[in-house]
Amino acid sequence: MSGDHFLPIQEDFSTIAIHEAQEPEQWSCMEVVTPISTSTTYKQRGPADFKKYEYSRSGNPTREVLEKVIAKLEDAKYGYCFSSGLGANTTLLGLLKCGDHILCINDVYGGTNRLFSKVASRFGIETSFSEIEAESFEKNLRPNTKMIWIETPTNPTLQVCDIAKVAEISKKHNVILVVDNTFLTPYFQKPLTLGADVVVHSLTKYMNGHSDVVMGACMTNNEALSKEIKFLQNAMGIVPSPFDCSQVLRSLKTLALRMKQHSESSLQIAKYLESHPKVEGVIHPGLPNHPHYELTKRQTSGHSGIFSIYIKGNLDSSKKLLQSLKKFTLAESLGGYESLAELPSVMTHASVPPEQREKLRITDNLIRLSVGLEDVKSLISDLEQALKAI
Ligand SMILES: *Cc1c(COP(=O)(O)O)cnc(C)c1O
Repeated sequence: MSGDHFLPIQEDFSTIAIHEAQEPEQWSCMEVVTPISTSTTYKQRGPADFKKYEYSRSGNPTREVLEKVIAKLEDAKYGYCFSSGLGANTTLLGLLKCGDHILCINDVYGGTNRLFSKVASRFGIETSFSEIEAESFEKNLRPNTKMIWIETPTNPTLQVCDIAKVAEISKKHNVILVVDNTFLTPYFQKPLTLGADVVVHSLTKYMNGHSDVVMGACMTNNEALSKEIKFLQNAMGIVPSPFDCSQVLRSLKTLALRMKQHSESSLQIAKYLESHPKVEGVIHPGLPNHPHYELTKRQTSGHSGIFSIYIKGNLDSSKKLLQSLKKFTLAESLGGYESLAELPSVMTHASVPPEQREKLRITDNLIRLSVGLEDVKSLISDLEQALKAI
């Protein structure tokens, strides 16, 4: 037992987000806000004699600032941005070759599952899936396993995977450990300090947080991997636009404030729902009754705005609830300032085979909430009236 404390929140998180790599002195007009450099090409003094940048896919000043900030926030030396979260994942596949094997957590983001099972397989890269327990990863390793891929907490059932334990296994067997840190962001969880080799993000979610940019990133402290990823970023070409980089740079400045509020509001709403007669159960890693509460306290500094509930009822009750909500918008995605609600069994997780859904307890009465930044009272009364309607 580790008492009732989560890991401490990093004290200079916002200062890094606001100032890292953003000194005005680096720009010709001393701009306080990082300029958007839209030029695709840069003048050379003589053939192959250029100042720093030559072509915007290989390197762009706006993108480079963002890459430095996200790296620093994740306690990483190196960071790279891509045009989507899946674009980051695709690029990491470039670290592998035909005949290699990926061991992936079974409850992984649906798009990652599809990329590995339906696309990487075409290039001879095999994927198999492991249960969440660290021992299961060790048991399922194969001689050709080159990468372990985990996501924690998982989606939508918020199970927590022991990053340090899986990292021990990956190190012992010389396998690259990738952790998708989209759900918690470095504000609440730092997988690299727990032993992961690479962290990936869908910046589309909390990191940008305003539901107006699709982008991805990966960070690492491993110099050899970093060189490979930088090569692949340019060679595969899945890069974001300078304008979008500027949007995310702006958003990161309020990441700490936003995460704090998402966390407080979601916990308050989860507690309210726990005692509601029409709610069968609440899965929120910040609640002491969560099966992985002790592990959550050991490896995170808190939990974000995403949690799930089982309502008492069936598919029709779930539909009725979702259609009655007025402040929570019925939509996929998560991590924005606006609250969203969805029914994973027929929306985000519809493509998961029914037996697998049953096993993961993704049933028709499971509803996923992404608590936004609205006033918590209005969100609670919205849920109240919608639960009344079923
Ligand atoms: C959304 C998401 C992704 C994919 O990111 P995109 O930016 O949509 O490509 C990957 N992992 C997790 C956990 C996500 O939520």
